[in-house]
Amino acid sequence: MEAIKLKSFGPEVKQWQLFLQSAGYKLPVADGAFGPQTERETIKFQIAHKLKANGIVDEKTWDFVTKVSDSTPLSQRWPKQDYTSMVNFYGPVGENQTSLELPYQMKLAWDTNIIVKKITCHQKVASSLHTILENTLKTYGQKNVEKLRLDMFGGCINVRRMRGGSSWSIHSWGAAYDLDPDNNQLKWGRDRATFAKKEYEDYWKIVESEGWTSLGRSRNFDWMHAQSAYL
Ligand SMILES: [Zn+2]
Repeated sequence: MEAIKLKSFGPEVKQWQLFLQSAGYKLPVADGAFGPQTERETIKFQIAHKLKANGIVDEKTWDFVTKVSDSTPLSQRWPKQDYTSMVNFYGPVGENQTSLELPYQMKLAWDTNIIVKKITCHQKVASSLHTILENTLKTYGQKNVEKLRLDMFGGCINVRRMRGGSSWSIHSWGAAYDLDPDNNQLKWGRDRATFAKKEYEDYWKIVESEGWTSLGRSRNFDWMHAQSAYL
């Protein structure tokens, strides 16, 4: 791979930025443009990993991207959903958020005139969520994404208590997202929720291959919901 550095532009830069975000480095957006902020965070990363601190993502620096993502078993990639495990992994509710540019355009489920191109989520999940949606688009194609309403955005970060409970919702950390809430209402089981249908099997496999949990598939309610936290 060609080294990327200040003024580089393209998908590799974006991948690098998403990686930095997932590792907890402060980048407000992964836009594929290697600017001074990306350079500064790259240098910090290099210092922390005893690499040559030149701000250039050469082969040795890039190696970390594959090493880190390959070395964690899927079952340990995310925390359990209890409060202590969540705070230890993600930090306080509502913090460490980033803006994620979506691989395909969505609509706001409760006002479909509103186009959603970016969402806010936890910086540790941005890269993984991007992968999920990118693979969803690859697998289904634009037409079926729309037909199956996989583009009906129902929310991500939302600092609130769990419905009918006192503990924090996983949405409070920006570590969960909902799609098509109209057809997958909270208390609906697989007899009513559209996301329980066979056509969505591939979508859920993509979600689960990133270690995310479907409440629908594991508990048969809240089929709109996927979270980067184990039950
Ligand atoms: Zn949800």
